Amino acid sequence: MAYKTASTRETWAEIRLDYIQYNVRETKKQFDQDIHVMAMVKADGYGHGAVETAKAALAAGAEFIGVALFDEALELRDAGIAAPILVLGRTRPEDAAIAAKRHIRLTAFQKEWLLEAESHLEVGTTLSIHIKLDTGMGRFGLVEDAEIHDFMQTLKICSRLKAEGLYTHFATADEKEADYFQQQYACFLERIQLVKTHIDTFDFIHCGNSAASLRYPDQCFNMIRLGIAMYGLSPSKEVEDEFPFPLKTAFSLHSRIAQVKKVPAGTNIGYGCTYVSDTEEWIATIPIGYADGWYRWHAKNGEVLVNGRRAPIVGRICMDQVMIRLPVHAPVGTKVTLVGSQGDEVITVMEVAERLQTITYEIPCMISHRVPRLYIK
Ligand SMILES: *Cc1c(COP(=O)(O)O)cnc(C)c1O
Repeated sequence: MAYKTASTRETWAEIRLDYIQYNVRETKKQFDQDIHVMAMVKADGYGHGAVETAKAALAAGAEFIGVALFDEALELRDAGIAAPILVLGRTRPEDAAIAAKRHIRLTAFQKEWLLEAESHLEVGTTLSIHIKLDTGMGRFGLVEDAEIHDFMQTLKICSRLKAEGLYTHFATADEKEADYFQQQYACFLERIQLVKTHIDTFDFIHCGNSAASLRYPDQCFNMIRLGIAMYGLSPSKEVEDEFPFPLKTAFSLHSRIAQVKKVPAGTNIGYGCTYVSDTEEWIATIPIGYADGWYRWHAKNGEVLVNGRRAPIVGRICMDQVMIRLPVHAPVGTKVTLVGSQGDEVITVMEVAERLQTITYEIPCMISHRVPRLYIK
């Protein structure tokens, strides 16, 4: 389901498509060879909007689109995106015919799947697949040598399947410690040799997520799968300053003061009366709540920006509203920034992620479809 781009609400997420394009272009510049960029737009573009993000990334030099689900690929096709799309998750083999018809590439890592998919394809049609190897992530992929040989033997008798790509995924590319990353990389090299005893060339070999692409550009073969960095976010706190250029964050979240009142000392605020004003205070109500993905955990040490100054969240977060304590009076309609900057003050996605003891990825993803996305080109 796509995000709303127009609404009567005074709460919205702003998406800088120009920043997404900047991040794609700058990333491409880090590579000598002609690298192919697969723009990762799963989960509705990590909460930014898959269609808009995909279009922006393609215009900035990405050539491929990556999604997790077959449904997500279909949604992009229906929206008129013609670029090659790869589904990284497992697709039902019975969907192979639709995938072939709509030029959607599927990931394969089970020989039974190959046979079933083949049986659903009509004579004369071809489905492009990317073979997935598990080199240490413990998720999708072929592991054992024998398993790989078996798979490749089976693939030979599936004349309607064409192996276009070969890939793996790293578990620790965003950690300072590189040993496990290098171990996985070495394993990938070895398994590529094994696969190549059956098929000697692939159009695309890929392993680099954002962290690997920006930290180890020499170990990315001829394609990268660019996700979080394209949105201008670091995959982890510990490698935040290891990127070769400053990322530009595309996502910010805003609202407007809906009511403001001066309350005397001892006033209870919100469900459970968990906050009681100390002195006379300015309390404002902001129309965003946990149903918008602004979860109750934000109440713990959460702050927002009003007129370039920090204002704490007070009391419990409601389904549709949250209350804040203003440092000085501000009228109804004043812009409130929950994620992003105002003047010199900034609340980064990383700060919000740390507040919730999670990673940057979750923050834009968790802002629900009730919040419209406003696109800035
Ligand atoms: C999500 C995903 C990526 C992108 O990862 P980022 O860290 O966001 O760059 C790459 N490959 C696979 C298999 C993924 O699932």
